[in-house]
Amino acid sequence: MNLGIDGMQALVCGASKGLGRGCAEALAAEGVHVTVVARHADALELAAAEIRQSTGSKVTTVACDITTDGGRMKALAACPQPDILVTNAGGPPTGDFRNWSRDDWIAALDANMLTPIELIKATVDGMMQRGFGRIVNITSSSVKAPIDILGLSNGARSGLTGFVAGLARKTVLHNVTINNLLPGPFDTARLTATLSDAALATGRSIDEVREARRLQNPAQRFGTPAEFGAMCAFLCSRHAGYLTAQNILLDGGAYPGTF
Ligand code: NAD
Repeated sequence: MNLGIDGMQALVCGASKGLGRGCAEALAAEGVHVTVVARHADALELAAAEIRQSTGSKVTTVACDITTDGGRMKALAACPQPDILVTNAGGPPTGDFRNWSRDDWIAALDANMLTPIELIKATVDGMMQRGFGRIVNITSSSVKAPIDILGLSNGARSGLTGFVAGLARKTVLHNVTINNLLPGPFDTARLTATLSDAALATGRSIDEVREARRLQNPAQRFGTPAEFGAMCAFLCSRHAGYLTAQNILLDGGAYPGTF
């Protein structure tokens, strides 16, 4: 299938590794010019070079913290009129809500709710004027089924989800869609970090916790960034203009509900 997005501009956040990188790579493979953002310049340059090599597409890098005003200004200066926006930043720490201060909550809200909203605010009107836009927010399966040690994620991402549900119905008339992708367990550095927190909390080895988690999943494996990126690229395609305000779960069937 030709996704019809060759030559478009995409701003992809949190893209030096993991799911954001999977999205950047899948878009670049469709001929999209991707501007990739992450905090650490070395890892980002390496990822960009690999994406250029595997796709032949143009890749621009912006090393910044996307959760800050300055970081967002830098990213938007490099890609001022994106046709495609993928919002993403690191997930919040695990823990018990009794130990979280107001500052911990503000940091989670900044990263996982307010940053995507600020990026949407800066780009959505231009997309509507130009008659094409695709916004994909990387959220979490925690929006659909809360994860006990990730209360900061359960809360902050639900705020974004509620906001997007309203806005996405105002932009679709102009061929601008906004959807959320909800990862279950994907084999990335983030998964390793949360598994090692779980191992510490329960006194088991990380290998034991990883294996138990793998077997718990109906697919008996973790997802790959490439699988995640492929879904993102389809959502960003010309064919997906009637698909908006959705929360799409990619979890190997882990969520047990019928819907
Ligand atoms: P990851 O740690 O593998 O990669 C995160 C990427 O974001 C890296 O490129 C990192 O440099 C970048 N990044 C982090 N904070 C940033 C910031 N402030 N500014 C700019 N770039 C930043 O994580 P991942 O597994 O790809 O996860 C992506 C998102 O999906 C996270 O929010 C995570 O919590 C969420 N998630 C992941 C899983 C999973 O199993 N992997 C499951 C549910 C939710």
